[in-house]
Amino acid sequence: MAGRVLSVASECVPLVKTGGLADVVGALPGALAPLGWQMRVLLPAYPGVLAKLARAREVWAANDLFGGPARVVLGEVAGFEVLALDAAHLFARLGGPYSDGSGDFRDNPERFAALSWVAAELARVGDGEGWRPDIVHAHDWQGGFAPAYLRYGEVGVPSVMTVHNIAFQGIAGAERLGALRLPAAAFSPDGVEYWGNISALKAGLVAADAITTVSPRYADELMRPEFGLGLEGVIAARAGVVQGILNGIDDALWNPEADPAIVPYSARAIAGKARNRARLLAEFGLGEVAGPLAILVSRLTHQKGIDLVPEGVAAFLDHGAGLCVLGAGEPWAEAAMRALGARYPGRVGLRIGYDEALSHRMFAGGDAVLVPSRFEPCGLTQMMGLRYGAVPVVAAVGGLADTVIGASPASLAAGAATGVVFHPVDALALAQGLRKLATLYADRAQWGAMQRRGMKADLGWGASAARYAALYEGLLRG
Ligand code: ADP
Repeated sequence: MAGRVLSVASECVPLVKTGGLADVVGALPGALAPLGWQMRVLLPAYPGVLAKLARAREVWAANDLFGGPARVVLGEVAGFEVLALDAAHLFARLGGPYSDGSGDFRDNPERFAALSWVAAELARVGDGEGWRPDIVHAHDWQGGFAPAYLRYGEVGVPSVMTVHNIAFQGIAGAERLGALRLPAAAFSPDGVEYWGNISALKAGLVAADAITTVSPRYADELMRPEFGLGLEGVIAARAGVVQGILNGIDDALWNPEADPAIVPYSARAIAGKARNRARLLAEFGLGEVAGPLAILVSRLTHQKGIDLVPEGVAAFLDHGAGLCVLGAGEPWAEAAMRALGARYPGRVGLRIGYDEALSHRMFAGGDAVLVPSRFEPCGLTQMMGLRYGAVPVVAAVGGLADTVIGASPASLAAGAATGVVFHPVDALALAQGLRKLATLYADRAQWGAMQRRGMKADLGWGASAARYAALYEGLLRG
């Protein structure tokens, strides 16, 4: 069986990205196409988006979409079809997708409700060329109202709600119910109501026909208070329709054998990685590093465990290791990284900012990648590390635990280990994990074997795309 899927999201590579959500939304259409599923991505036309679309044409328009005129432009990018929602009063703004320098846009609930409303409308009547989806697939809170509009509008098109990160829930005051085009009946505990407010994510979780999250472990974690962040009961109540489907990484973009940003190398000829390492040390102005050279490529936030890093890496650095950091985020976390750099001149290199090409050079040059997240729905950097022979050192949470096989006497003897997994998520356990890493690094034969295993691991989209396809088929069969 095959069909049409409308994917609804606020970010999509290569058009707009602040995190892993964009990678997933941009990868799914290409991964599903060989299985017979035509997926179009409905995305806000932020400034610059329309100019990047090939063969663009208008396929839908409305005089009043949440306070202004709007149209949907169908175009192509990177081999898949995008439906860009062009509504100047909502999306023609400077800054990022959600905020400018002075904080989140106050009308974010309305902005993404409008996106979700158009998704439901396209499912109800189709676009001007007669294209109508069989399934609506909503991502995170920005797509969360789409299943709700389908439900209250009795559209009869099944929906999937995917949680990429439950920390963002799309909360709006109850007085905005009418402005959000929701019926009074929706304001109830089995609707959009959440502790007296409206939650877009909850709206999607209760109304969707199926719920997925981006790793099996995170699916289990979400039903527990430590990780569910208030929505654990909502998700547990729907446990029968919840499943975890791991994200993949794009094998074409992330391939050390054919990456234009690096000196190419392969699992067979891994010695070539040394040239990338030497270049990386030079690029960051670091001296010779005898021990492992670790990298950190991350949003600099509490979720990512950045506060654990200064204490967690101290002994590692004192014993001859190095660290290159690329990231941007919360001011305290950027300051902590700056202080670490100042404390270890020649040992710790730092770039504050967002730089895709540099991230490729770091995975190629790094011996290890650190991911000390407190929670991690799936995580991509540990997979990029595996692919590039930068051994992951990860906290035992979510998708990190699902994708890295931690080194232990048993897993090493079995030839299975691909990284270091530490628990609990604190600075002491991180330090112990790094001590284990340094020991593994010193045994060159074992280290090389572990690197090669990670590089050969199946991290692509094939298996996961098949699971999404099976989910869609199940929904169409009813
Ligand atoms: P999250 O979506 O929570 O930020 P993920 O690990 O799922 O975390 O995805 C993060 C993505 O963003 C990865 O592709 C990572 O390489 C990239 N990334 C994060 N910070 C930076 C940065 N400063 N420069 C370049 N790429 C970055």
